[in-house]
Amino acid sequence: MRYKKGLFYIENVSAKILAKKFGTPSYVYSYDKIKNNINNFKKNFKTINPLICFSVKSNSNLKILNLINKFGLGADVVSKGELIRALKAKIKPEKIVFSGVGKTIDEIKFAVSKKILLINTESENEIIEIEKIAKKNKKKINIGIRLNPDIDAKTLKKISTGKKEDKFGLTEKKFLELLKKYKSSKFINIICLSVHIGSQITSHIPYKNMLNVVKKIIQQSKYNFKYIDLGGGMGIQYGNSLNNLNYSKYNKLIKSFLKKNKSKIIFEPGRSIVGNAGYLISKITYIKQTSSKNFVILDSAMNDLLRPALYGAMHRIIPSKLSRTRVLKKHEFVGPICETTDKFLTVSDYQKLNQGDIIIICDVGAYGMVLSSNYNLRPKPVEILINKTSTKIITKRQKLNNII
Ligand SMILES: *Cc1c(COP(=O)(O)O)cnc(C)c1O
Repeated sequence: MRYKKGLFYIENVSAKILAKKFGTPSYVYSYDKIKNNINNFKKNFKTINPLICFSVKSNSNLKILNLINKFGLGADVVSKGELIRALKAKIKPEKIVFSGVGKTIDEIKFAVSKKILLINTESENEIIEIEKIAKKNKKKINIGIRLNPDIDAKTLKKISTGKKEDKFGLTEKKFLELLKKYKSSKFINIICLSVHIGSQITSHIPYKNMLNVVKKIIQQSKYNFKYIDLGGGMGIQYGNSLNNLNYSKYNKLIKSFLKKNKSKIIFEPGRSIVGNAGYLISKITYIKQTSSKNFVILDSAMNDLLRPALYGAMHRIIPSKLSRTRVLKKHEFVGPICETTDKFLTVSDYQKLNQGDIIIICDVGAYGMVLSSNYNLRPKPVEILINKTSTKIITKRQKLNNII
């Protein structure tokens, strides 16, 4: 945490100044953190030389995607909108993969017309539609097939994607069946096996289990996949978990996997690239004292940051100005929305807070602004990118007039 003379700084600008200049609630991103996260990711997986496709759904801000492109990453998209945005950010089509269980015909046609690297398919019906489109266009289309390895990612139940009861991917049996059926298709080129077992994974063990399943499938299929797409899911530190995924352990597992399987690895990280680079700056509207706790009522709400309400996620909340006085009473940080789930965090005690104080909700760079809405007819917050002392608005605050 970066406090100088008791004031919290993001790069070289204090949260207090940011709140004054741009108002609250505001999403603020650190250029330096994004850059460091990318460099750190690259460094740790250098020996396997992966293609790193940033998961656009975690943060689809155009200016953030410009940075992603500048630092050499590709993109993993899950809709036509995200694909258009990624292309607009000048990410090269040959570095873009398209994932998702329910791509429409229109989305597939568009992806094909843009000549992206591959489409990760998740059902036979989707493959049939792709084959039809290919036939019509007299082309061979590159696809991946997503395997559901039936692995427990040991993460929040609501963000697990690799168990057999989840809607994602295909069982081993179905995977092998489709591979056999389509590997000599004139219109489809199966170049990739893909998996993604969930998000916010903090132990390398689920990945180890996943790689074992992938290894087994490859042996059984005797098929040579040009790419193995291992998805994303790398966990970061949040308020309730100070663990993050050990990249070097994961890298070792993959290295050993690659000894027998000479494929190019694709990663699709989202959270691990932008999660800790984002802050939501908020102001305290009221403090409501009850006998059991203090409700700290903020001007940001679940419409600005949905993760706590949606998944029970915990984000650290820190003061913009430190105080030595502690209030030894339960504090519950809540939003103003008419929903009981509109709360961010409960702590046993906190430093003394006052109405009008600025606080910062941390680690909101991934699945923050992208999940925001106009619920309660609240305008969406501004987004700001900080690079040292420079502050740039990268999305304007919605105007109430424009949403009414
Ligand atoms: C969401 C998603 C990702 C990114 O997950 P993170 O946990 O943000 O790294 C990658 N691949 C697929 C297919 C996804 O659905």
